Amino acid sequence: MECVVETDTCGLGGGAVVARGIGFTYQALDADYCRFLIYRWLHPDGVKCPNCGADGSPYSVRLNAGMRAMCLCGKWYSAVSGTWLSGCKLDPRKVYMLAFLVREGFSDSRIAEITDMDRSTVWAWRKKLENRS
Ligand SMILES: [Zn+2]
Repeated sequence: MECVVETDTCGLGGGAVVARGIGFTYQALDADYCRFLIYRWLHPDGVKCPNCGADGSPYSVRLNAGMRAMCLCGKWYSAVSGTWLSGCKLDPRKVYMLAFLVREGFSDSRIAEITDMDRSTVWAWRKKLENRS
């Protein structure tokens, strides 16, 4: 198979090489790794029980897989419980891409194209990202 790589002739790339004909889809990303990156971002010091603050590392396999675990205090929780992503059903690859593209300054309309979401949904996610706690 031939790999077609052309030199940017429009002048925008200053001689950068562009690969024509190849598209990007968030589905090319690894969902488990995106989830891992999001959880690390949410919990730089590790997941803790939102009820009693106990270390969640004994349940890391379940938590890192997006599953819930029961703390010794009796509270069921997941890695997103008590965070701004609590209740989020969005594909972790999309959450990761949204956060990355917002951080990089992409417009809502461009992010909507890349992630295959409505522009209004992207706008709502931008607000969530800006107001996250
Ligand atoms: Zn607990």
